[in-house]
Amino acid sequence: MKYVEEFRNPELAKKLIDRIHRRSTRPARLMEFCGGHTVAIFKHGLRQLLPPNIQMLSGPGCPVCVTSSADLDRAIALSQLPNVIITSFGDMIRVPGSYSSLRQARAEGSDIRIVYSAQDALYIASDNPDKSVIFIGIGFETTAPTVAATILQAEQERINNFYVLSLHKLCPPIMKTLLALGEVRLDGIICPGHVSAIIGSRPYQFIPDNYDIACVVSGFEPLDILLCIDMLVNQIETGRHEVEIAYRRGVKPEGNQPALELMGSVFEVSEADWRGIGVVPTSGLMLKKGYRQFDAGANFDINPGPSHEAKGCICGSILRGVSTPLDCKLFHNSCTPEHPVGPCMVSSEGSCATYYNYGDTDE
Ligand code: SF4
Repeated sequence: MKYVEEFRNPELAKKLIDRIHRRSTRPARLMEFCGGHTVAIFKHGLRQLLPPNIQMLSGPGCPVCVTSSADLDRAIALSQLPNVIITSFGDMIRVPGSYSSLRQARAEGSDIRIVYSAQDALYIASDNPDKSVIFIGIGFETTAPTVAATILQAEQERINNFYVLSLHKLCPPIMKTLLALGEVRLDGIICPGHVSAIIGSRPYQFIPDNYDIACVVSGFEPLDILLCIDMLVNQIETGRHEVEIAYRRGVKPEGNQPALELMGSVFEVSEADWRGIGVVPTSGLMLKKGYRQFDAGANFDINPGPSHEAKGCICGSILRGVSTPLDCKLFHNSCTPEHPVGPCMVSSEGSCATYYNYGDTDE
């Protein structure tokens, strides 16, 4: 199969759905780690096609959503410094921090620009040599190699006014943390396709080994996800716990070595602050010592003050899989995509926005 339509073929989808129904006999709780999977599952109405004994839960794989209020407050404080241009992916601009948002800061005079890549931010730095241009670096292992490449380019081209606030996060360590917390019982995990294209499938081996949970890496088209669920159900029903790949056109067990080497040449593993989870050791990326001249965290003096979450917002427990948006009293009332209270309603991959946009308001 080569084209997107082939991964949406209704006849093949029906065959997979029938097989899942035939195979599935026992209750199974499956978590999709990635926000992209949550959106695809809702958008294509896949949950309604599954047997009622299969329960789907959303995980913490939305980069905007997991960025903590404290880190967002740092970005806002940086935007308020003189001669600074903040560059950020669009969704981040609208997320409310403890006191303000990047959008509000922009309305009050800060120079904040939406970019689609770190490379765009580097161009802005090159065009504005008298300003400090800071890129707000969010995302998982998927985006970090491209940011690393941009930092190497800045070094090579001697662009000395380009900085990155590295809020990058790592997938396997947070999975480990969530499972160790033991708040949610899971039978299977839909592992993220894009992250796995970089890191491979091997880093998930601790999940079946230590927790007896089935793992299958999935792509993002309906047939990818249905095949993944079918493979998870097959493992669960036959008592196996393994890491398998249902996305062979994108993922190899060993991952993408050049991308990993690129990431490792610029970044080193550090702690990271996750919304709803807190500071988790070895779950983030910071710039290596040799690249500190590009590190916004090390080069600017800010004091954003103590952070706090929006009253009534339960994004934190949604990201841990403990709650769903329907558990939030603000959902669909005072919190909507037009007036979001928390990041899960802002981000296009956020659970609350997905429930809102695709109509699951009455589970
Ligand atoms: Fe937060 Fe709004 Fe989601 Fe409630 S509905 S958890 S307030 S983002």
